[in-house]
Amino acid sequence: MRPVYFDNNATTRTDPAVVEAMLPFFTEHFGNASSTHAFGERVGEAVKAARKQLQALLGAAFDHEIVFTSGGTEADNAAILSALETQEGRDEVVTTTVEHPAVLTLLAHLEKTRGLKVHLVGVDGRGRLDMDAFTAALSPRTALVTVMWANNETGTLFPVDHLAQLAHEAGALFHTDAVQAVGKVAIDLKATAIDMLSLSGHKLHGPKGIGALYVRKGVKFRPLVRGGHQERGRRGGTENVPAIIGLGAAAELAQAHMADELTRVKALRDRLEQGILQQISHTLVNGDSDNRLPNTANIAFEYLDGEAVLTNLNRAGIAASTGSACTSGSTEPSHVLKAMNLPVTALHGAVRLSLSRENSGEDVDRALAVLPEIIDRLRAMSPAWLARSGGQGAQGVPDHV
Ligand code: PLP
Repeated sequence: MRPVYFDNNATTRTDPAVVEAMLPFFTEHFGNASSTHAFGERVGEAVKAARKQLQALLGAAFDHEIVFTSGGTEADNAAILSALETQEGRDEVVTTTVEHPAVLTLLAHLEKTRGLKVHLVGVDGRGRLDMDAFTAALSPRTALVTVMWANNETGTLFPVDHLAQLAHEAGALFHTDAVQAVGKVAIDLKATAIDMLSLSGHKLHGPKGIGALYVRKGVKFRPLVRGGHQERGRRGGTENVPAIIGLGAAAELAQAHMADELTRVKALRDRLEQGILQQISHTLVNGDSDNRLPNTANIAFEYLDGEAVLTNLNRAGIAASTGSACTSGSTEPSHVLKAMNLPVTALHGAVRLSLSRENSGEDVDRALAVLPEIIDRLRAMSPAWLARSGGQGAQGVPDHV
């Protein structure tokens, strides 16, 4: 039986059309994009075309606002470090407790090594930003506000344009990690106040190891990677041409698929989620169900360990993830779910099912066919569940579903 892949927020399958577009740039059009001879010119034009494909997906005003990077992590690092260099006299950053480690780890490092003051703004039980705390954290010392467009674990969307306007009122720059949003929600950057935006190819059916940082025209920028004059001096190093071509092709496909595919994917996600909630007691949907990515379902199975659910799903040919990090053998609950103050009975039992345009109704049927039995079996062995339901096994009366 074909395996079911529900881990598209971790990575997506590279679209065969993307691979097709990349192939000639290994052996046929192999020139260096900076070379002035015919080999280089041909490649330089292709890189420019890819930049325009990305510009179109983002609704950026100019193609030169796109700087290619090695991925989302590098784009996040470049944006943060650049803002701290260019915003003279300002030495504070405002961010959230639920950012990706690509942002949080760098900020923690800068806090420790450079004395940077970092304001971590919290979220409520649905993952929504605490707006009072956000505005209170802004000050004339704020160099940068960095808030993700969509959370990778729950899919919760943040009001980034509004936050960017508030950041500007305080004289700060605004960056968004849009790695999970690009290709999944419509974006029109020229209509927003966003200064910088990070994206990653492998989250939108493009290749791994390629991404981009959007830097609005007029925003001062200092490169993270210094070297040659590539990317208008904003990112040194010979361009990864095949990957750039692949990212461009993936952007064009994402734009073409956006309206119809996302409606279909959202319907599949909703059917999967509703089916789980209806068939399995003591399940909670994590995240802001009114304001979420169309592809992401984060579901907590109370009194269980998410890792055990995943192992059993994997045996049944279904790939998903928990979103929690394993540290030296012990599974720590995710920092995102902890920040949302999930009930302790649910904190360890979260499973993220993330869909893409490659999923079908059959995939949803398969998951709905196997999950109730898996959860019943695991709960029958779970001391926490048995204690809670008075030893009645998995058939405990649901008090909330
Ligand atoms: N930011 C978010 C929200 C992500 O989900 C990820 C990848 O998981 C990244 C950044 C890192 O992107 P990359 O894998 O391209 O470095």
